[in-house]
Amino acid sequence: MSYEKFTHVTDEEIELFHSRVKKDPSTPDQCWEWQGPLNNGYGYLYIKRVGHVVLSHRLSYLAFKGPLLKKMVIDHMCCNRNCVNPDHLRQVTYQVNLTENTKKGPLNKVSRYDENGRMIKQSKGVQ
Ligand SMILES: [Zn+2]
Repeated sequence: MSYEKFTHVTDEEIELFHSRVKKDPSTPDQCWEWQGPLNNGYGYLYIKRVGHVVLSHRLSYLAFKGPLLKKMVIDHMCCNRNCVNPDHLRQVTYQVNLTENTKKGPLNKVSRYDENGRMIKQSKGVQ
């Protein structure tokens, strides 16, 4: 998969992105749950202009934070894979991502939030 054309996000794509996100404007710090399709727990979106699907958290980072750098990955500080809140995302090297995720515990354990913003610990088995 090439990300060559995926260096900016258009207004139309941001609109499409927002239409797939569930978020409560009264609690902006909460995770933004992706309502679109998921792959391995990560949300994705087909971008016609680019010609392939892109991961929704990468789109969020690119749209609201800044450019996606080569050899860097977008890490979820909240450990919630389908969260697309740009404030929960940071760009780190692959090594950092791997080391920190190991410290956080097994990858199949994800933190989720209920409607009231409380964190729910939940184990995700093989689906
Ligand atoms: Zn989050």
